[in-house]
Amino acid sequence: MEEVFAEHNRSFEKTRFIYPVISRRSQGLSLGINLDYDKTCNFDCPYCQVNRREFPSDAFDFKTMQAELLWAIEYLQTSEVFDLPRFKSTPASFKVWKDIAIAGDGEPSVNPHLLPTMEFLKPLAAKLPQIVLISNATGLKRPNTQKALEILASMGGVLWAKLDAGTQQYFEIVSGTKLKIDVIEQRILSVPQSLRLCIQICLMKVDGVSPSASEIESLLNRLKRIHNAHKLESIQIYTIARPPAQSFVAPIPLVELKTICQPLIDANLPIKLYSGAAD
Ligand code: SF4
Repeated sequence: MEEVFAEHNRSFEKTRFIYPVISRRSQGLSLGINLDYDKTCNFDCPYCQVNRREFPSDAFDFKTMQAELLWAIEYLQTSEVFDLPRFKSTPASFKVWKDIAIAGDGEPSVNPHLLPTMEFLKPLAAKLPQIVLISNATGLKRPNTQKALEILASMGGVLWAKLDAGTQQYFEIVSGTKLKIDVIEQRILSVPQSLRLCIQICLMKVDGVSPSASEIESLLNRLKRIHNAHKLESIQIYTIARPPAQSFVAPIPLVELKTICQPLIDANLPIKLYSGAAD
C-alpha cells in the first residue's frame, strides 16, 4: 500500500480504485472512485464503455481505496497532475480539479461501499471539490443509499441520474434490462429534496435509427414530471463518445442531436448538449 504514496506513483499508475480523467461534462479534471472494481452492473447498456472481456484478478478493498483517496486529495491540491504526459494537452480552461465522481465500472447505488464512502468523505468535505454520484437510479430507494444521499446533500454534492428513454420498449433496448422505467422514474423522485439533481441522457442510433419523435415526447413527459417534483439543476444530453459494447448502436452527430432534442429545449428545461464520436 505504501507504494501508492511513493513519488513514482504520481502518475496514478498504481492506484486501483481511483482514477483521474478530463471530463467534458465536469469541464475539468474529475477524480473517479470505482466501487464496482469487479465490473458487475445490473444494466447491460449496449453503449457501455466498460471492457467486460477482461476482469481483475484481485478484489475491491475499502481500506486501500481510502488510502488512495487520501493520497490523491493531497496531490490534487497542487496542479502537478497536469504535467503528467497524458494530461499535457488539456485545454487551459480544463486544468482545474472539478469534482470527485463516484461512478466506475458498475452501479454504485446498489454497492454496499457507497454509504461508508460517503461517511469517509464527509469530514474531508471542506478540502474537496463537489462530489458527484453517477447512478442508473436502480438502488436509490434502498435505506442505506438514502442515508448516503443525505450525506451527499449535506456536502453540497449532486446526483447525476441516468434516464435514457421515455418508453418501456426503448428503455429495454438502451439499458439491457427488463426493469420498469416507471419504477426508475419513481426511484429518481425518491431522492431527498435537499439533494442537487441532474439527469443524464445518452441518445444514440439503434440499428442506424435515431430516437423517434414519440420517444422524445415520452421522455419529455418524464422530465417534466421530475422537474415539477424536484427542480433539476441540469439535463445533460450526450451521445456515444467511445467504442460501445455492442455494434448495433452508434453516435448521433451534434447537429442532428439538436434537432431531435428541440422539443426538450422548447419546453424550457435546463438542457445541455454534448457532442460525441460522430463529430
Ligand atoms: S449502467 Fe453504466 S456501467 Fe452499467 S451497463 Fe450501463 S453504462 Fe455500463
